[in-house]
Amino acid sequence: MSTVIAFLGLGHMGGPMAANLAAAGHDVRGFDLVPASLDQARAKGITVAESAADAVAGASVVVTMLPSGRHVLDCYADVVPTADAGTLFIDSSTIDVADARTAADVARAAGHRAVDAPVSGGVGGATAGTLTFMVGGDDAAVAEANPLLEIMGRKIVHCGQSGNGQAAKLCNNMILGVSMIAVSEAFVLGEKLGLTNQALFDVASTASGQCWALTTNCPVPGPVPTSPANNDYTPGFAAALMRKDLGLVSEAVRANGVEAQLGMLASAMYEAYAAEHGDRDFSGIVQDIRERSGGT
Ligand code: NAD
Repeated sequence: MSTVIAFLGLGHMGGPMAANLAAAGHDVRGFDLVPASLDQARAKGITVAESAADAVAGASVVVTMLPSGRHVLDCYADVVPTADAGTLFIDSSTIDVADARTAADVARAAGHRAVDAPVSGGVGGATAGTLTFMVGGDDAAVAEANPLLEIMGRKIVHCGQSGNGQAAKLCNNMILGVSMIAVSEAFVLGEKLGLTNQALFDVASTASGQCWALTTNCPVPGPVPTSPANNDYTPGFAAALMRKDLGLVSEAVRANGVEAQLGMLASAMYEAYAAEHGDRDFSGIVQDIRERSGGT
């Protein structure tokens, strides 16, 4: 059955996600502030609207894929009051847990349903329809969202009430940021000790040091030919996005009084790295660590 879907935010992620919904036969009405994104969306079968409110008029589902919590809350303030009663709001942006809960409250207070459904998998996953969705919301809203999320993703995990999808996303990316730094430091230490990168990889990838940062996104060129290190650290997952996510992590750590020294340190390290190299893959931090260690 074809659903009328308003898709707000047609950038790197939202563009291909909306295109997959349209390709599955849904009536997708998109809006973005950037004209080039609108042109690309039109070419992918999305009906381009004049404004966010225009896209939402007559839609039964609203998907947002926006840069930050501020954008999501401003957008909800704009479109929630005029949306048809009982509209399902799905926010897939990566935002603060508190903002996600506020956004859901705003939608519910106006008689709508809401889920937060941030994603992992990057632009490649968005294009291929293989994203992982981490979903927060009540059972009925999540059940209604699921068939649409299944078009855009491969794995959908219901993490609990509103905001819990964002909580899972932030915790996962804290693990990722910390583990990428640990793997990078190990390679630089190994180099200093006279180990080849390949030898360390062959051991750690099949021993207790094994992790995604090592075996899929290996920060040194050679051992994993598809990792961004072999392509001059072209993202992949840009350091600027890791900085953003770890910034949200450090706010959550502080607000909840959690003893998370490594998470906070990873946040500070990516803040410094992304200030200069935000457009590189986040695994490029190995170069910074090597340089600050006096080179090889
Ligand atoms: P992007 O900057 O490419 O896209 C965001 C889009 O939102 C832009 O095109 C912008 O013009 C549009 N926008 C801003 N305000 C708007 C408004 N009021 N109405 C309509 N459109 C508006 O960013 P992206 O890479 O697509 O990321 C989107 C979200 O997904 C972010 O929260 C990001 O953290 C998260 N995310 C990104 C990746 C990734 O690899 N790029 C991976 C996982 C999660």
